[in-house]
Amino acid sequence: MSENIKYNKTKIIATMGPATSSVPMLKKIIKAGVDVCRVNFSHGDWGTHLEVVNNIRQANKELGSNVAILGDLQGPKLRIGEVENNSMLLEEGTVMTLTTKATVSSGNTIHVKYSTLARDVKVGERVLLDDGKLELEFSKRIDDSTVEAVVINGGPLSSNKGFNLPSSNMSVASLTPKDKKDLEFIIKHEFDWVALSFVREDKDITELRNILTENNCHAHIVAKIEKPQAVENIDSIIAATDAIMVARGDLGVEMPMEQVPMIQKRIVTKCIEASKPVIIATQMMESMITSPTPTRAEANDVANAVMDGADAVMLSAETSVGDYPLKAVQAVERILGSTEMGWNVYNKIMKPDPTSRSFISDRICYATVSMSEGIGAKAIISMTQTGYTAYKIASSRPNCDVFIFTANKRLLNRLSLVWNVRAFYYDKKTNTDDTIRDVIAELQESNFLKDGDVVINTAAMPVVENRKTNAIKISTVGE
Ligand code: PGA
Ligand code: MN
Repeated sequence: MSENIKYNKTKIIATMGPATSSVPMLKKIIKAGVDVCRVNFSHGDWGTHLEVVNNIRQANKELGSNVAILGDLQGPKLRIGEVENNSMLLEEGTVMTLTTKATVSSGNTIHVKYSTLARDVKVGERVLLDDGKLELEFSKRIDDSTVEAVVINGGPLSSNKGFNLPSSNMSVASLTPKDKKDLEFIIKHEFDWVALSFVREDKDITELRNILTENNCHAHIVAKIEKPQAVENIDSIIAATDAIMVARGDLGVEMPMEQVPMIQKRIVTKCIEASKPVIIATQMMESMITSPTPTRAEANDVANAVMDGADAVMLSAETSVGDYPLKAVQAVERILGSTEMGWNVYNKIMKPDPTSRSFISDRICYATVSMSEGIGAKAIISMTQTGYTAYKIASSRPNCDVFIFTANKRLLNRLSLVWNVRAFYYDKKTNTDDTIRDVIAELQESNFLKDGDVVINTAAMPVVENRKTNAIKISTVGE
């Protein structure tokens, strides 16, 4: 891993788009601190996505970096159809007809692309258009394909805007036919992570996982929490998924926006307890889409995510189509670095559960992190085949560096999403003493360690047998 790459413990995800996807631009944002690139399947076509994927891999090769690729499936995002001349005005108090029958929206008619709309909604429920900017309330069901709704908050409406039905239980599947198609692309091109939008329950994750397993795909799953049902079912969703995204954009439309801050904090805490990475997403540097500096409130929002204990923060339009993608990444990087110097980011060590099947390895990770504080260690260095130790150690939020050595190549990029973890490839099967000496020497060569640094190694002894982590060794570099 190259030294001239900016690095913080909290990871940065950048959404790809025309503003960032060339190799030279990718190299700039990766050097500035980007750890994960998000390919958003809500926009663009496979041709563009393929070019982006190839460019990310090229940038990784040139920089010696391990940036992960995250494919974000659109999910059952509801949208209206074409609006005549791409513009109409909804006035407060007007009764609008929402129908799946019309082909274009105009006058008092809105064409919705959602075949079971009339069946799924009830009179008195709200419908929100264009990220919640416009609000209507259903007043009457006309027939199987048409309903009426009164405009509560009016405003201009243009083609293909999203609409949200916060209180209805949609009958559409979590994985739409488009998602299943896009999954073929994600599987074929071996993405590291795949995000599922508008998750409602753990079954949504299981359905996706079954498809991945059937196709021998090793991508891990991010569940996007952006529906009230997902907030209700958060415990079983965390148990079923590999990582969580607090998708505040849609969540703040589907639920009262004033509830989002505390939901964010609760979800982050639960994810840390479960050792599952958690991402805070949307509007973090929103004003930087058109401005070279963030607002003070945005700086606070990023800092707050760090203090909550998030593994990663995400940029959306700021990096995909914004005017200042590099400046946005640099601003986030500086806020992360500055906040991580504070006191309340670290030591979220939890006593392992004695009834857990992984109790012994959990106990070793727990001891390692608490010991690292006690002896002022410079680094924790762990060997892992599955990544389990990496997730576990990171979830205790140790103050020192965490270096992971693995012979599992897939982990190198995947772990880029995980708080404070840096992964290195190591495939020699020698005895534990030689392995520990080797990895310390390698870290010293790359200037991550120097003589006199105290480090803690965890390992599975004997190394050749690929056992679970069962050993801790403390050494002083150079002695
Ligand atoms: P999106 O998800 O950008 O795919 O909509 C994030 C969010 O809703 O916050
Ligand atoms: Mn969303």
